[in-house]
Amino acid sequence: MSVEDCIFCKMVAGQIPATKIYEDEVVLSFLDIGPISDGHTLVIPKQHFEKLHECPAELLGQVFTRIGKIAGAIATAMDSDGYNLLCNNGKAAGQLVKHLHFHIVPRSIGDGIFNRWPSFKYEEGKIEEVAAAIRKNL
Ligand code: AMP
Ligand code: ZN
Repeated sequence: MSVEDCIFCKMVAGQIPATKIYEDEVVLSFLDIGPISDGHTLVIPKQHFEKLHECPAELLGQVFTRIGKIAGAIATAMDSDGYNLLCNNGKAAGQLVKHLHFHIVPRSIGDGIFNRWPSFKYEEGKIEEVAAAIRKNL
C-alpha cells in the first residue's frame, strides 16, 4: 500500500475529515470512528510508518511525549477508571490501517472489554529459549 492510498495520511493532509483532539508538527490525534468505549482515541505520527519498529526511535520518543499528555486528558475528561494503550502491528495482530497508530481506550470497572486474555504457562525450559532468541536480535 502506498502512502497515497493511506487514509491516515489523507487525514494528516486534510483530505478526509477527522474529529481532532490534538495536532502539532509531530502527531495527529483524533477520535476513533468505531470506538470500543466513549473517548476511544487514536494517536498517529504524521509521518507514515507501518509498524512500531519501523519508526525511528527519536520520533517514537516525541510521539510518546504527546501520548502521555493526551491519555491523561482523556482519562480526566471521560472520568475513566483506567485506559489501555494498544498498538496493533501486522495483520495477525489485527492491524487494519497500515499507518502506525496508538489506541487509547478509556475503561471503566466491569466494562467487560478484553475479558478474554488467553494466557498459558511455558513448558519446562522454553522460556529461556524464547528469551535467548529475542536477545540475539537486539
Ligand atoms: P487497527 O485495527 O489497529 O488498524 O485499528 C484501526 C482503527 O482505525 C479502527 O479502530 C477504526 O475504527 C479506526 N478508523 C478507521 N478509519 C477511521 C476514520 N476515518 N476515522 C477515525 N477512525 C478510523
Ligand atoms: Zn499513512
